[in-house]
Amino acid sequence: MSRPFSVSAKKSLSQNFLIDEVILNAIVDQIHPQLDDHLIEIGPGTGALTQHLYARVQQLVLIELDDRLIMPLRQRFPNAQLHHHDVLTFDFETLFNDETQMNGEKSERQPLRIVGNLPYQISTPLLFKLLESAAPIQDLTFLLQKEVVDRLVATPSSGEYGRLTVMIQTYFHAQKLLDVGPEAFHPAPKVDSALVRLIPRTDRPVASIYPALIQVTQAAFNQRRKTLRNSLKSWQHLPLFSECAIDRQQRAENLSIEDYRRIANYLQSNNAFAPEQPLIPNR
Ligand code: SAM
Repeated sequence: MSRPFSVSAKKSLSQNFLIDEVILNAIVDQIHPQLDDHLIEIGPGTGALTQHLYARVQQLVLIELDDRLIMPLRQRFPNAQLHHHDVLTFDFETLFNDETQMNGEKSERQPLRIVGNLPYQISTPLLFKLLESAAPIQDLTFLLQKEVVDRLVATPSSGEYGRLTVMIQTYFHAQKLLDVGPEAFHPAPKVDSALVRLIPRTDRPVASIYPALIQVTQAAFNQRRKTLRNSLKSWQHLPLFSECAIDRQQRAENLSIEDYRRIANYLQSNNAFAPEQPLIPNR
């Protein structure tokens, strides 16, 4: 396999390029690309991971923000669909407008497999964006800051369990796959990394509870040391605790995903949330 091209890394774009072939192979094994996958790579960079994916699938979509990388990526991966775009404003739905595969044939509307060694500074907003996206998703496999992965897979009553955990685990099954040390990258980041897989839950809640879920998790975890009786006092005019069978002396981190879902359902059915919050469409 030919070597990726090189550029000087830009800190502002969180550029830490993967240079360890053992780790790259381990990541590709975990992604387990299949020929007919509809695969999207976020932030292909200098193509270290891309070259492995390009060789294995017929439909590869690349989304990269850095101007300097566009021409070399286009030359190196001529059959990939390259979008010079900020992924945070990218509309994943548009990928279904042109469904031509790399071999020129038309493909079916296939759910997306989205992968990437993500720019760490945008990983949380990107995860929230994907929560709200209407595009059908098969799975997400991301290399992230280990601390973020620990929060994604956390269990109740642990220090890592927080708002991000509840939001993500309401919609996805989260599994940590690999730990990756700083030496696998150039330049080496100051933090440890980990690979995580997120698979959409089949029992996702209806779209309409999303605003209530956003609001209750914000209220609860913004004051995570307080009891729920205090942190959720905006709703004290409602019999929320008795209706949802929640002990008001507990703290935010003690509630399960199901507990939060029940509270969000209750708030939504009582119209007790801010209606201007974004909605997650039904899938
Ligand atoms: N995939 C490459 C690798 O593993 O070596 C590069 C990973 S590097 C951590 C993150 C990549 O995301 C960079 O190529 C960077 O330019 C790109 N990037 C940063 N912010 C982005 C954004 N908002 N939208 C799309 N790409 C972005």
